[in-house]
Amino acid sequence: MQFIRQGRARTRRDLMELTGLARSTIAQRVDQLVSAGYVREGGVDVSTGGRRPNMLKIDEGSAVVLAAHVGATHGRVAVVDLAGRTLAESAGPVIVADGPAALVEWISACFQALLTEAGRSMGEVCGVGVGLPCPVDQRTGRVIPTPVVTGWPEYDVVSALGARFPGPVLVDNDANMMALGEFTAADPDCPALVLVKVGTGIGAGIVEGGRVLHGVGGAAGEIGHVRLRGYDDVACGCGSFGCLVAVASGAALGRELAAADPSVRDARDAADAADVVRLVAAGHPEAVRRTREAGRVLGEVLATVVSVVNPGVLIISGSLARTGDHLLGGIREVVYRAAQYRSTRGLHITEGRLGDRAGVVGAASMVADRVFSPDVVDARIANVTASDNA
Ligand SMILES: [Zn+2]
Repeated sequence: MQFIRQGRARTRRDLMELTGLARSTIAQRVDQLVSAGYVREGGVDVSTGGRRPNMLKIDEGSAVVLAAHVGATHGRVAVVDLAGRTLAESAGPVIVADGPAALVEWISACFQALLTEAGRSMGEVCGVGVGLPCPVDQRTGRVIPTPVVTGWPEYDVVSALGARFPGPVLVDNDANMMALGEFTAADPDCPALVLVKVGTGIGAGIVEGGRVLHGVGGAAGEIGHVRLRGYDDVACGCGSFGCLVAVASGAALGRELAAADPSVRDARDAADAADVVRLVAAGHPEAVRRTREAGRVLGEVLATVVSVVNPGVLIISGSLARTGDHLLGGIREVVYRAAQYRSTRGLHITEGRLGDRAGVVGAASMVADRVFSPDVVDARIANVTASDNA
């Protein structure tokens, strides 16, 4: 099934050649996948003059995935089929500070409405994927306690959503989901990809060999609170000083701009990443200068990340990425200078292709990877076979 899903096998003959298994074994296994609803047969292989009407395809219509991506200020929710096609999607403002119970209510209500809109039923749901703006321990599905998030580590998001929707509930960090989304949709052949989300906060997701790198406790890519030299007087929300997020995030730039420019301050009590993007687009000189400088500061940290991971693509995403070449220019300038040539040869530093949608695409992909994993598929086939025999 992995060969079919990857597009490497389109016929039974392809499968025989790829696996070396006998025709009868392939026939038996394909039949099992078809009756379990994973694979369907149909269409005509034109390469043989249309004589073999048994093209194998993933049965993407058999089930749907519910995917949600929550940032610090916005959430996006979607119903996606197993081929990754979005059937219904919506987005809206969320306030993470309201706590996890309120957020789970919002996500659940959106899922229900989108299922109705897509004309799909609860029985077709095969899993739920959620991206959250904080590190998540993959062993427990719980948010890792940090000074910045309160109320979350005690709350069991997996159980709360699992009580309402069928299938596994998978939770991961938002930057990880965005990295997986960009990898799946835009660059599925890239051996190593890094995505950095620069918005209200800063975080990175690393995809290596098609899998998200989590580290021991789920905190891989948490670069936001790396302490920078020369910024010891800049206080961070985590209680420390000189953190990357306190110097180069959208929130930090907004704060600095509001403090430096009375007209920015008068317009809003507290400027945020969206205000910075607006000011840069309008050519506000101080906003442009500070955004470029933030890019250089990010570049210092990312040069190390690039040297460790040696990615083919470094994607800059999040709301501040919308300042385009000003942020990216600063990052490129420093990464290509500070990292070794061997680490940056062939490296593309670019904006994400999916923009705001990367997170839900990644969350859906995470669930599809689980649904199609060999142990889950084997268990389901055993179940189907048992009920057929009963
Ligand atoms: Zn900090």
